[in-house]
Amino acid sequence: MTIHAYGARAKNLSLEPLAITRRAPGEHDVQIEIAYCGVCHSDLHQVRSEWAGTQYPCVPGHEIVGRVLAVGAHVTNHKPGDLVGVGCIVDSCQHCAECDDGLENYCDHMVGTYNGPTADAPGHTLGGYSQQIVVHQRYVLKVHHPEDQLAAVAPLLCAGITTYSPLRHWKVGPGQKVGVVGIGGLGHMGIKLANAMGAHVVAFTTSESKREAAKKLGAHEVVVSRNPDEMAAHAASLDFILNTVAAPHSLDPFFALLKRDGTMTLVGAPASPHPSPAVFSLIARRRSLAGSLIGGIPETQEMLDFCAKHHIVADIEMIRADQINEAYERMLRGDVKYRFVIDCASLAEN
Ligand code: NAP
Ligand code: ZN
Repeated sequence: MTIHAYGARAKNLSLEPLAITRRAPGEHDVQIEIAYCGVCHSDLHQVRSEWAGTQYPCVPGHEIVGRVLAVGAHVTNHKPGDLVGVGCIVDSCQHCAECDDGLENYCDHMVGTYNGPTADAPGHTLGGYSQQIVVHQRYVLKVHHPEDQLAAVAPLLCAGITTYSPLRHWKVGPGQKVGVVGIGGLGHMGIKLANAMGAHVVAFTTSESKREAAKKLGAHEVVVSRNPDEMAAHAASLDFILNTVAAPHSLDPFFALLKRDGTMTLVGAPASPHPSPAVFSLIARRRSLAGSLIGGIPETQEMLDFCAKHHIVADIEMIRADQINEAYERMLRGDVKYRFVIDCASLAEN
């Protein structure tokens, strides 16, 4: 079937209305009418080929929520009318050690929601800036939030799980002091989740204008990282730092804030590398540098259920699809509190 979408035809072009096709649902597929799709900084990196390898036309979007329209004969978990979500993953090999552990995000054959290999036309996956999507049931999540919060649930499907997974893996909880660096889409979720897990949360921002706002998100303390005196006040005191920054920057000032055996985990994925950490900032207190990629499907469901239980959603600004190019420029300026979400009903007007 042919549907309306928004995407780019080439690396240097703006996003524009596109007509795309979706496969008819197979036996294990769920056909979803997309209500809302969040706008992740990864969408911008990908659509502009900043990570290289982008295939065009490129339809971004991997923070998808909507309602089930139809299901294949072998679908057991979902039925028409259900509220569901789809995140960054729409397929994987389903039989490797990673898939068996529910860590499909680390499967060598993980297929991203956009720009991944598929038998469907045009030969690569097309994401959620569109009216509908057809996804194998394994990768479809259940949404238990009230329906009037659906738009604000969308960013949980990437920003939520990408911060939840490392916070859980590094066992963040009561009695710990945890830093979240970069208060954008990911970072604002990191603050809310680390707070809900019981940690003492310190937000690190380059934007003076976010100082008060970060406290409302749940940060117990806020540091403007450009101010060395404010940074020094937290020297060697943090157990864990989650770094969500989308641009290359020196990591050393943040290592200096970790305690002995502390870890800084990078989730931000800038187009060019960070300057290498100074060796002494790691060996001095047996500190670690780590990375983390989204999260697996069972953990994504766990995160959605955790957020429903703790009444956590993203702080969003709703846009129409035809405002997406302007939204990208604003995201680059840090001018969004804290996630744009596309009202996909607006695609019908294209
Ligand atoms: P975002 O909303 O643009 O937020 C990024 C934040 O980083 C900004 O709000 C800003 O926070 C800070 N920042 C930006 N430029 C900076 C600079 N030059 N120097 C210092 N700080 C800067 O982006 P997002 O959607 O949260 O995504 C963040 C990054 O994570 C992107 O690179 C994205 O591709 C990546 N990502 C990775 C995964 C994964 O699985 N690992 C998943 C999703 C996204 P302040 O104003 O507070 O300083
Ligand atoms: Zn994302």
